[in-house]
Amino acid sequence: MKVAMCICGEPLVSCMVFRKFEFFCVRDGRKYTFFGPEAAEETPELLKRMDENEALFDRLAEGVISDGGMKIDSCEICRDRHEPHAYHATEAEREADRQARARLAAVGAPT
Ligand SMILES: [Zn+2]
Ligand SMILES: [Zn+2]
Repeated sequence: MKVAMCICGEPLVSCMVFRKFEFFCVRDGRKYTFFGPEAAEETPELLKRMDENEALFDRLAEGVISDGGMKIDSCEICRDRHEPHAYHATEAEREADRQARARLAAVGAPT
């Protein structure tokens, strides 16, 4: 298996948060499109860092509403209307989304 890598040397996290960018570096905030990143052969060390980066991403992104047109299985409005959850999210959900995006935007130093 190959691991998608940031140019800073960290394994990237794949996510659906940023429109058109499928990969995100939790260490410096760089974003990559699906075909953007270099791939490295997996090693136990890289896989361990990938797990750590994914765990960090999950903490940062908690509450974020995906840009990717995602429906939420447990939401009846998503089911009934066949539309992304973002279209009818509650004010509390939108606030959680704003806070998660602020946390993600604050990661690392932009290039
Ligand atoms: Zn990076
Ligand atoms: Zn919904």
